Amino acid sequence: MDPHLKYPDDADLRRLLRFVPDDGSIWLGDRRMVLLHTVALGSLRHDLITSVGPEHARRVLTRMGYACGQRDAEFAKRLRGGQSWSEMFLVGPQLHMLEGAAKVTPVKTDIDLDAGRFYGEYRWDHSWEAYAHREKLGLAEEPACWILLGYASGYTSAFMGRLVLFKETTCAACGADHCQIVGRPIDEWPDGEAHRAYFESDSLLEKIEALSQQVEALRSTLDPAAEGALIGQAPAFRRAYELLRKAAGTQVTVLLTGETGVGKERFARALHELSDRRAAPFVAVNCAALPGELIEAELFGVEKGGYTGAHAARAGRFERADGGTLFLDEIGEMPLAAQAKLLRALQEGEIERIGSEVVRKVRVRVVAATNVDLEAAVAQGRFRRDLLYRLNVYPIRIPALRERPGDIDALARSMLSRFSALHGKRIAGISERAMQALTTHPWPGNVRELENLIERGVILAAQDGAIELEHVFPEAPEPQRQAGLGPQGRLAEVGSREQQDLLDRVLDRVLGEGLSLDQLEQQLLEAAVTAAKGNLAAAARRLGITRPQLAYRLKRAAEAGTPAAVDPS
Ligand SMILES: [Zn+2]
Repeated sequence: MDPHLKYPDDADLRRLLRFVPDDGSIWLGDRRMVLLHTVALGSLRHDLITSVGPEHARRVLTRMGYACGQRDAEFAKRLRGGQSWSEMFLVGPQLHMLEGAAKVTPVKTDIDLDAGRFYGEYRWDHSWEAYAHREKLGLAEEPACWILLGYASGYTSAFMGRLVLFKETTCAACGADHCQIVGRPIDEWPDGEAHRAYFESDSLLEKIEALSQQVEALRSTLDPAAEGALIGQAPAFRRAYELLRKAAGTQVTVLLTGETGVGKERFARALHELSDRRAAPFVAVNCAALPGELIEAELFGVEKGGYTGAHAARAGRFERADGGTLFLDEIGEMPLAAQAKLLRALQEGEIERIGSEVVRKVRVRVVAATNVDLEAAVAQGRFRRDLLYRLNVYPIRIPALRERPGDIDALARSMLSRFSALHGKRIAGISERAMQALTTHPWPGNVRELENLIERGVILAAQDGAIELEHVFPEAPEPQRQAGLGPQGRLAEVGSREQQDLLDRVLDRVLGEGLSLDQLEQQLLEAAVTAAKGNLAAAARRLGITRPQLAYRLKRAAEAGTPAAVDPS
């Protein structure tokens, strides 16, 4: 082994690995992992080889390894940013070992990231893939650690920012006692081009995929009915949409109810688009956004001199929406005087501009929306009962986002493509950890809140990177009970990453300053009692022990001659 290539301590990598059994999840940093039987993976590999043939199987498996390596490369600079190139690079071989692929021993490495120079030779002992290949298919004629090679190539290519090809010079699948690999940039291999196809996904398929994403993004900006709010498979959501669809063919007045941010305006627009009024205007008015004295003029229009300051005649929103749809949002905020005129417009299809006696006929479908209880507003005298009856002919309740968590994934992805088109960014997706947090968030602000977070995520994520947890929830807490890998490789309960870092620092100090265990305990007990202002029960709670246990330990410390800060009695 090259003496310059001694592995640095892998505590930083082990700390990335978290088992969260209560959640049914395992994490490597912010990547979700899974513990799998090599026998099962070996069978899958075998079935693939026998069904599509070794050439296609090799491509699929190489790309699988390549994707894993690429993802692990993201950790290198994040974890060892300040260290030497070789220490940073060794994150790859060390993670590959931690993940159980093989024992990796660096033989020779020459890296110059700035010049793009790379040469690497490594020895692999007990590659799981070589064992799996021999077990299922017997001795191989050619090297067969395709997933592992894909990993080395994916990791190194992402690290170097150029395609680096690894090949096996010997392989345990062929009968050797270990595998040996060599990697260099693809154009430095005489037969590099022939290997390129193994590492790149089908370029034609990729182009089609990119084009279809663009078409999808464009379509969602053109067609309001296809926008985020109307995506959903949850039964409550499908029911609401079904009601909307049935109303579209009629002239009925529709009342949309639901919490703020559920997408009432988009429902109203969709209703308009689905109806035969779609060629006529859709006009939206937010009753809460207009001052009470202006709302009548806005809705019904003004005749010249109709009120002080009305210098010219002006058509109201009702007239402008003639033949189409008028959407009245937050109808519960409408003043009583305007409510009377609205009722007449709904019943007779007639309006009068302010300051005019001329009766005008309008053919407008009204869609009203509210997030307040209109019955309660009626009881308080703030809303006309006859108007409520008139509006409530066809109510549609739009469910809150937390009532349909299964739809969040599809909604978030649709918003992602819309906002990445809008902001001109290529985003690789949403990390599993971020998606899990999005799915469990209570969403008080509903679809609008989700939209805000995704837009923020698109802006914060790196070009070609994924939206990570911290981009959407900067304050996200870590799950409570976690297990990580101790130095002996056994699972051990650990706290959050911050707690673990703090603990590491404390341990360094304690060991560095030669404190004895008794002295440490003594100081900890005293600090807890002082912090609890002498209240032993509270101090015991802080330490996670019972009051009698605390009293006993304080007494023992006092007897050992170290004076206790408090009287334990
Ligand atoms: Zn091999």
